[in-house]
Amino acid sequence: MRPVTAMMWFRRDLRLADNPALLDAVAAGDGRVLGVFVLDPLLWDRSGDPRREHLAASLHRLSRSMGGKLVVRRGDPADVIPAVAEEVGASSVHVSADHGPYGQRRDGEVEASLKCPLVATGSPYAIAPGRILNQQGRPYQVFTPYFRAWLEHGWRKPVDAPAEVDWTKADSEDLPEGSADGAGEQAALEHWRAYLDDVAGYGDERDRPDLDSTSRMSIPLKYGEIHPRTMLADLARKRSAGAEAYRRELAWREFCADLLARNPHAAWKPLRPEFERMRYDEPGELFDAWCEGRTGFPLVDAGMRQLAETGFMHNRVRMVVASFLVKDLHVHWKFGARWFMQSLRDGDLASNSLNWQWVAGCGADASPYFRIFNPVGQGVKFDPDGTYVRRWVPELRHLDSKAAHEPWKHGGADDYPDPVVDHAEARREALRRYDAIR
Ligand code: FAD
Repeated sequence: MRPVTAMMWFRRDLRLADNPALLDAVAAGDGRVLGVFVLDPLLWDRSGDPRREHLAASLHRLSRSMGGKLVVRRGDPADVIPAVAEEVGASSVHVSADHGPYGQRRDGEVEASLKCPLVATGSPYAIAPGRILNQQGRPYQVFTPYFRAWLEHGWRKPVDAPAEVDWTKADSEDLPEGSADGAGEQAALEHWRAYLDDVAGYGDERDRPDLDSTSRMSIPLKYGEIHPRTMLADLARKRSAGAEAYRRELAWREFCADLLARNPHAAWKPLRPEFERMRYDEPGELFDAWCEGRTGFPLVDAGMRQLAETGFMHNRVRMVVASFLVKDLHVHWKFGARWFMQSLRDGDLASNSLNWQWVAGCGADASPYFRIFNPVGQGVKFDPDGTYVRRWVPELRHLDSKAAHEPWKHGGADDYPDPVVDHAEARREALRRYDAIR
């Protein structure tokens, strides 16, 4: 009799440890598992280079940990997965659930054309989106009560990697070319465990882009090189204020995913419907200046250049550049969100769109619209010595301390633009437009 083979379809879970879907596949296949990754043109072609490079590098590492047996095929998963399942006579196909709008639709299509069951176990979150409900059985719209309920609900302990897997092989295309430092499960764990030693200071330092002391774990979390449950278990052993502050940020990631799962339109449309009527300007030259980091506002430009050069930007600066685009340049947040998805290595639809909506004032639990960041004041407060600005804007390196945040008061700088807008006037205009939709 032909032995059974289970299929593990890897997506946002490029790891072997703490992967309940993989354990289920191993159990279903009696140890014999075919691991497959589908290069879906719809996702691949829309990703920017930073994400493509990281994904490719991560796939290489995953395959290595499987003895080189990862099968990669390019195409529409609704065609590829049933075809591979048929080829190897799979008894079941295992995945961790995807709660995003595209993932939900895609998995429905795959399930409809598969001849064996598609079994979803676990998700990329400690608590699956949609699970946390208030006493009336309704989802939370506001973060703080969600966070309390999330803590109270709790999560399972991490699970080990399967002791042994007989990885079976099928025809595979070449893995995409790509190298990215620090990609893969092993690197993610090493980076995380080293970061944990410093997590005590996280609460005090997390808003300071000059100190560059946040974890950068958004990148391995994005690709599922580590599961948040592994991180939460480590944090629970730390018992410091920094560890608690960190746990709260992980809950923001889960809140964003929860909001998007319940409101798929929130990927590109405002959660608060009155914002459909908000008047924005078409993205033109000012939008280009924003993308290229030449707005004449040093903190904004430093952030946009950090993004272009590294595929990463500090969270505080993400908030400032987002606010600047929407409330100083009056451009719709979806254009900024799209630019971020193209440029970020950690670009994640839920965290990205819901954070943009938070800044733009149109999210469920958004910053009030009238709270408009002053891009200079934010620089002076969170980059007090101008270190971050000088790091990313070389034209300003001759300016000492916080003078780097206001070059126009200190003789300006060669090759550095004057501010493209008058912040006070832009702020008044933003408030006028907001008044019109209230
Ligand atoms: P740390 O400060 O070390 O935080 C630890 C972890 O908590 C992060 O890795 C992340 O998983 C989570 N986290 C922290 N802050 C947030 C938050 N505000 N929302 C959701 N999760 C959070 N994050 C993404 O992962 N992908 C995105 O595409 C993304 N786009 C963003 C766009 C805007 C406009 C803004 C304001 C924020 C965005 N964020 C996004 C959230 C946040 O900026 C990043 O998660 C964080 O900067 C990543 O750096 P870190 O891992 O060093 O963070």
